[in-house]
Amino acid sequence: MYRYEIDEEARTLRLWVRRKPGNKRLLCSGCGGKASKIEEVREREVRDLPWRKYQGVVLVEYYRVRCPKCGLKVESVPQLPSKAPFSKDFEDAVGLACESAAARQVARLFGLAPSTARAIDLRYLERWTKKRKKPILRDLGVDEIYLGKTQKFLTVASNLETGEPLWFGKDRKEETLDEFFRTELSVFQRKRIRAACVDMWEPFTASILTWVPECRIVFDKFHVMQHAAKAVDEVRRAEFFRKSGRMRGLVKGKRWLLLSRWVNLDSRKRQLLNDLFRLNRRMMKAYLLKESLDRLWTYRYEGAALRYLNQWINQLRWQRLDPFKKLAEMLLRHQEGLLNYCRVPVRFGVVEAINGNIKALLRRGRGYKNLRYLLLKAQRMAALKTEFVVFRKAA
Ligand SMILES: [Zn+2]
Repeated sequence: MYRYEIDEEARTLRLWVRRKPGNKRLLCSGCGGKASKIEEVREREVRDLPWRKYQGVVLVEYYRVRCPKCGLKVESVPQLPSKAPFSKDFEDAVGLACESAAARQVARLFGLAPSTARAIDLRYLERWTKKRKKPILRDLGVDEIYLGKTQKFLTVASNLETGEPLWFGKDRKEETLDEFFRTELSVFQRKRIRAACVDMWEPFTASILTWVPECRIVFDKFHVMQHAAKAVDEVRRAEFFRKSGRMRGLVKGKRWLLLSRWVNLDSRKRQLLNDLFRLNRRMMKAYLLKESLDRLWTYRYEGAALRYLNQWINQLRWQRLDPFKKLAEMLLRHQEGLLNYCRVPVRFGVVEAINGNIKALLRRGRGYKNLRYLLLKAQRMAALKTEFVVFRKAA
C-alpha cells in the first residue's frame, strides 16, 4: 500500500496498492504462462471488505504485459477474479453469505443490487467447482421435477453415492437424457456406471439402455410405493362412490390416513383405521397390500425376492381390486428392474432428497432462470450438506 484516503462523511476507506518492486512474477491472463515485459501500467478500482463502518475500496495497480505466446495481454491478478469491480475477498464474502441466506437478503446486507449479488455468487460457485475434484460416478440417479405450467419438467441426473445433482435438462424426453450422456460423460466415464436408479418412466430407461448398456437399471422404491399409494387412493374413491350413507361418512376424510405408513401412526389413528377396516374389507385389503409390498426390498437374493413378488401378486386373485391388478401388471413388466436391487443395492431416497433441496432453492428465491446457477447452488448445498435457514418476509 502506498497511499490511503479516509472520507469520514462518505464512510469510505480507499487504499492504493501495487506489487513490491522486487516482485516481478508476471503471469499472462491468456495462457497463464510467464510474461516478462511490462508494456503499460494501469489501475483498477474494486470494492473490498469493509473496515468497521467504512466501505473498503482498493485501487490496484496492474500491468499489460508482453506474453511470448499471446502477445499483448493483461496480467492475471488473483485478487481481481473478474472484470466486475469487486475484489476476490469481497466476492468470497458475498458467496459465503449466499450459502445461508437468499441472494435478496445478502444484497441488502452488502448494499448491492440483487442481480449483482447473484452474479457474484455465481462466479464464486464457478471458482469453487473449477478447483474441486469431481467424484467418480458409479450409481446414477435420474428423476424429473415438475416446475409448473410454463417451464414444465426438469430432468435431474445425480450421483447417488455423493448425493449431488450432476446435470439439469429441460423436459423429460429420451433425447433430454441422451444429451447428458453425450455432453457430460466420456466413453470411459460411461463404462464406470454400474447402476441407474430411475422411476418407471420409459424414455429414461430407453436412453440409459442406449448409452450405458452394461449398467443395471434399478427401479426406485419410492416411486413404486407411490404407485401403490395411488392404487389405495383409487380403491378408496371407488368405495366412496359405491357406498352410501354411513359407510360414505366413514371413508370420508381418511385419505391421508390411508396413505400413511402404519408404523408412522399413533394408536388413536390406528384405531380410526381399524374401525374403517372392520366395516370395509376391501379397504383393508388394499391397505395391507400396499404395506406389504415394502418387504420386496428386504430380500438379498433374487430368487427369494421373485418368490415374494409372485406371492404378493397371487393375493390379488378373487379380490376385484382393479387398481392393484394394474399395479401388478406394471410390476411384472418391470420385474428385472425390481430384482436388480438384490445385485446392486443403490441408495434409495437420495433422488428424493436432491429433489427436495432443489425445490427448497426454487421456493427461496427467484433468479434461478439460469439453470447453471441452480445446479451449482444445489451441488454446493450437497457438498456442504447445509440446512438452509428459512427466511420469512415480515408481514
Ligand atoms: Zn499468454
